[in-house]
Amino acid sequence: MAKQINCECGYVARGEREDEVIARIRDHMRSDHPELLEQVSDEDLRGWIEET
Ligand SMILES: [Zn+2]
Repeated sequence: MAKQINCECGYVARGEREDEVIARIRDHMRSDHPELLEQVSDEDLRGWIEET
């Protein structure tokens, strides 16, 4: 089962493990939403993960 996080901008981060998805969405936020990077915790990101 894969996991994904949908960003509010339409970007989708996918991965096999939670760690991967979180790393990908963090990379995306670093380039596209740097202001969110510090506001969102790993705990929040975990809550956004969907099983696909
Ligand atoms: Zn985004």
